[in-house]
Amino acid sequence: MLLRKGIFILLCMAVFMQACETKSDISDVRLTILTTIPPLYSFTKNITGDIANVENLLPNGADPHDYSFGPADIKKVSKAQVIVKSGLGLETWLDTLLASAAENAAARGQELFVVDSASGVDVINNDPHIWLSPVRAVTQVKNIRDALIRVDPENAETYSLNASSYINRLMELHGEIKAEADKFKTKEFVAFHSAFRYFADDYGLDQVAVIQESPGVEPSPSAITRVIDMIRDRNIRVIFSEVGSSHKIVNSIAGDLGLEVYGLDTLEKGMQSKEWYENKMRFNIEIMKEAFSK
Ligand SMILES: [Zn+2]
Repeated sequence: MLLRKGIFILLCMAVFMQACETKSDISDVRLTILTTIPPLYSFTKNITGDIANVENLLPNGADPHDYSFGPADIKKVSKAQVIVKSGLGLETWLDTLLASAAENAAARGQELFVVDSASGVDVINNDPHIWLSPVRAVTQVKNIRDALIRVDPENAETYSLNASSYINRLMELHGEIKAEADKFKTKEFVAFHSAFRYFADDYGLDQVAVIQESPGVEPSPSAITRVIDMIRDRNIRVIFSEVGSSHKIVNSIAGDLGLEVYGLDTLEKGMQSKEWYENKMRFNIEIMKEAFSK
């Protein structure tokens, strides 16, 4: 009886250990990659497929320009091997977060690799909104691909192949947007904040003014007057607000001037999926088709 009990316990231990080993094998081989904003999630997930664990750091609805991170974020970052940031000063809070997480990660002997996706991108006036230009997004994808190949060379071929097919899709998207933008009757617009400068640069549009010049800072009455004068002087017919945010000031300016407001998606906030980036860019082009046809 005693012997039987002993064998039973041994068997249980063997099964338990096997289960533990299998579990730790899986968590050891899969890289954990954190992205800061949803477009970077789409880019990274398309490069890795299921061979890495990709998560977006910011919760749905959080503004990356002025995010306040908490202890849960420090924990997440200290468990990750790779962080993908958009760069160009978008994530002003990230250095402090990385410093807080670095100690925990070092204590576990873990190294954290930070990918600056903006490296080598054709930049205008240090504006961080590069993801809204599919052409510049291709450079971001290449930067993420190259970093993943450095961190995880065993899967280099998968990263390369996946990145190539995703880049083809982004160039298709670029072609589609260009074909539509070429047909726009008007080209000038006013936006809530300076998100669409690169988009305008790619497709021959003109972002003549923005209402909120600094992220998170309400425009002064004199700045608002300047925008209104500019809209009148140049006879601008298109004014964009942003989906997911209520900008009373945009509605009030548009109301005064008798303009209709159209809501674009800056792709700074949202749910994450592989197709999210392409879907949202196509959503924007549908809105623009309507706005620029007048
Ligand atoms: Zn922005």
